Amino acid sequence: MALDEKLWQRCADFHGHVCGGLAIGYQAARYAAALMGADFSRDEELVCVAENDACGIDAIQVLLGCSVGKGNLLFHMRGKQAFSFYDRRGGKSFRLVFNDLPEGTAGTMEYVLSHAPEELFTVKEARPMPQPAKLFRSYHCACCGEKTGEKWIRLVDGEYRCLDCMEEYDRFHV
Ligand SMILES: [Zn+2]
Ligand SMILES: [Zn+2]
Repeated sequence: MALDEKLWQRCADFHGHVCGGLAIGYQAARYAAALMGADFSRDEELVCVAENDACGIDAIQVLLGCSVGKGNLLFHMRGKQAFSFYDRRGGKSFRLVFNDLPEGTAGTMEYVLSHAPEELFTVKEARPMPQPAKLFRSYHCACCGEKTGEKWIRLVDGEYRCLDCMEEYDRFHV
């Protein structure tokens, strides 16, 4: 899979610069598309769960149409260069884990862009499929008056509080 200058340029324009992380995301996205037989995701059929929030995510957004707003870009923060992909229609799913660079590799970006995705990633089983987006009832916080979904509401003295108006109470992490 040779470097597609046009697609790479689109990633660079969106991200603002070129870097090794963007190259990893670019290759992960192209590999995922090839494995799925998919292209740009117009809707939510293609879902990505990323295990980092670094530069590479931008390439995945541009190339696969996975975005936070559409709800098909989710995070499972583990600080790993790993991405699970799911096709909601075909049911195909897998996880791409970036391999260690060979010892003494000088430039990550150059290395990543000049190698085939098959050499860059190990294909593993996808993490469990995330739940579809859900709508929550909303409540006003008794403290700041702002409205938030019930998943983010706590009870304090019988009143609703948003998480920002909660005093931390944690006896287990001292
Ligand atoms: Zn970057
Ligand atoms: Zn509040």
